[in-house]
Amino acid sequence: MTAPPTTRADRLPEPVWATPVWRAAVHAAHGMCQCAGLCGRKHAASGGQCDQYQGLNGLNLSLTEDGQVYCPRCFTAIARAFAQAAATAKASAAAERYPQDDLLALLDDQD
Ligand SMILES: [Zn+2]
Ligand SMILES: [Zn+2]
Repeated sequence: MTAPPTTRADRLPEPVWATPVWRAAVHAAHGMCQCAGLCGRKHAASGGQCDQYQGLNGLNLSLTEDGQVYCPRCFTAIARAFAQAAATAKASAAAERYPQDDLLALLDDQD
C-alpha cells in the first residue's frame, strides 16, 4: 500500500550517486534549481528564479557547501563565484596577517 505522490519532489528521478544529504536538499527545494540570480543570469523569463529542475532532460542538481541545490549551468557559475570569494577572503586574511607578523617580529627584536 503506497500513497500516491503529492509533490513533484516525491517522484524525482535520482542519479545513482544520490546521497541522503543530496536527497534531503533536493526535496527541500522541491527539485528546483535554487538560483535566483546568483549565477549572474537574471532568470527573468522564469520570474527571477531558475526554472531548471531535477530530472529535466536528465539533468542532475548539484549541492553546494551551503546546502543549496543548483542546475549544472547555474552551479558552474556559482561554484566559480564561491572559489573567487574564497580566494579573495584568503588574500585579505593574508594581508591582515602579514602586518601583524611584522609587528611580532619587531617585538621579538626588542628582547
Ligand atoms: Zn539553474
Ligand atoms: Zn542561475
